[in-house]
Amino acid sequence: MNENVLEKLKILAESARYDVSCSSSGTSRSNKKGTIGSAAGWGICHSFAEDGRCISLLKIMLTNSCIYDCAYCINRRSNDIPRATLSVSELVDLTIEFYRRNYIEGLFLSSGIVRNPDYTMERLVRIVKDLRQVHRFNGYIHMKSIPGASEELVQEAGLYADRLSVNIEIPKEESLKILAPEKDFQSVFAPMRYIQQGVLQSAEDRKRFRHAPRFAPAGQSTQMIVGATPETDKDILWVSSALYKRPTMKRVYYSGFVPVNAYDNRLPALKQPPLVRENRLYQADWLLRFYQFKVEEIVDDAYPHLDLEVDPKLAWALRHPEHFPVDINKADYEMILRVPGIGVKSAQLIVVSRRHGRLGTEQLKKIGIVMKKAQYFITCNELTMQSVQDLRPENVRRLLVQKNNRKQDDRQLILPFADQE
Ligand code: SF4
Repeated sequence: MNENVLEKLKILAESARYDVSCSSSGTSRSNKKGTIGSAAGWGICHSFAEDGRCISLLKIMLTNSCIYDCAYCINRRSNDIPRATLSVSELVDLTIEFYRRNYIEGLFLSSGIVRNPDYTMERLVRIVKDLRQVHRFNGYIHMKSIPGASEELVQEAGLYADRLSVNIEIPKEESLKILAPEKDFQSVFAPMRYIQQGVLQSAEDRKRFRHAPRFAPAGQSTQMIVGATPETDKDILWVSSALYKRPTMKRVYYSGFVPVNAYDNRLPALKQPPLVRENRLYQADWLLRFYQFKVEEIVDDAYPHLDLEVDPKLAWALRHPEHFPVDINKADYEMILRVPGIGVKSAQLIVVSRRHGRLGTEQLKKIGIVMKKAQYFITCNELTMQSVQDLRPENVRRLLVQKNNRKQDDRQLILPFADQE
């Protein structure tokens, strides 16, 4: 590979690493005769960075130069960092070469803004179009749409990319204006709307014409930065919940604020990214999408922030002992789903298995329930444990937090040895 391109690749891959919205999903196009690559299943290559973030092996920016000066971004105009720009053909060739060498199965493509949003977006579209039409690349492509890009370019991008995404970054517009004065919600929500229109239109067309082109078949996603502005978890989760009501929004990613520009006094002085908070938001997001929780049940005016010590489902259960214990052999599926330690699959298995006889602790353990947690919130055959009502929520909380801390201590004891393997 050309030395010059390799040098650019190092700079641009490094610049792209702070974008966390890179997992691939939601598309199932398999390899076809005369094409290369496949977007089927979950086989897209990812690696995990030291800080635990998921990184696609070809997660790259077209350029890390930018005319904007967003306070939270390493690539902002005013930062003195090495800059690089790949040409359209360099990026296309790089993707194909990496694919042929079996390094990657997909592309996650983003860019800083050069000249203006449409100028940049046009180049991104040319890359994905060349990959699909000239090189017959059939692998997964996730492309970031540039905030403020025109409808025509977003509509064209959707014909070639599997997923399109536009980052909201900051959950409230007034905070966004402080940290990213060149952006506003209109420039973010307009492309989101174009993507949605494209997906819905394509679905309609395909009902009438089987071979009508597909538009961003894996839908869209977005990302919010957590901890750069004073918004609470309640603010963040309300935005997520509104986004999930849009039919094409597949994932909202939460990115703990990484203090890359510590000198900027508009930003909070954090020693490290708020990773526990980020994790709790993902858990709460999961509750919204798969556990039939509403935002106001997870966070409200009295509890605007998620509990960092316990997961949001357990926190809800401890605040509502009146709903427990749940009788595993009689309760509705929806209520079983709310028991800490019981996941979606386990709840489904319980409902199916109890048709054949009453369930006891042994069967529940086989089903995969985390009994250490669930035991305080359920009744079933042979379970003699005192419930959260008998023990009181604050005592159950103490017991579970102690157990969790012990588990973490054990992990710390084990890990140094694991590293030597
Ligand atoms: S527009 Fe994007 S790349 Fe440019 S400074 Fe803002 S966040 Fe960074």
